[in-house]
Amino acid sequence: MKIMWCWRCKQEVGMLDEEEYNRVHEIFIDCTKRTKVYRETTGSPLDKTTLCNLFKPVVEEYEKITGFKGFHHNVVMHHRVSIYGHPCKNCGKPLRTPRAKMCTACGAKV
Ligand SMILES: [Zn+2]
Ligand SMILES: [Zn+2]
Repeated sequence: MKIMWCWRCKQEVGMLDEEEYNRVHEIFIDCTKRTKVYRETTGSPLDKTTLCNLFKPVVEEYEKITGFKGFHHNVVMHHRVSIYGHPCKNCGKPLRTPRAKMCTACGAKV
């Protein structure tokens, strides 16, 4: 786990390394299966609250690893170190992608 600036959340968050991400992702897949089962057995569409309840294990695992609370399960899934670039040499914020040529935050060239 690494604390990094998240572009989408506009705050510093705990980013998962690959091993941690894989663990959370596995739980995510499991939860996705549970939503399918829920739909098939109840025949009703999922409302927001039910959906969040079904995906709770994802959020809980993320909280256990990072200590950051209150994120939606879809948001948790983009807190992965490897989808961002190195920190900018000028301002320290991570580049938006590993291949970025320029820092979006301060405009510095990489
Ligand atoms: Zn985020
Ligand atoms: Zn920068």
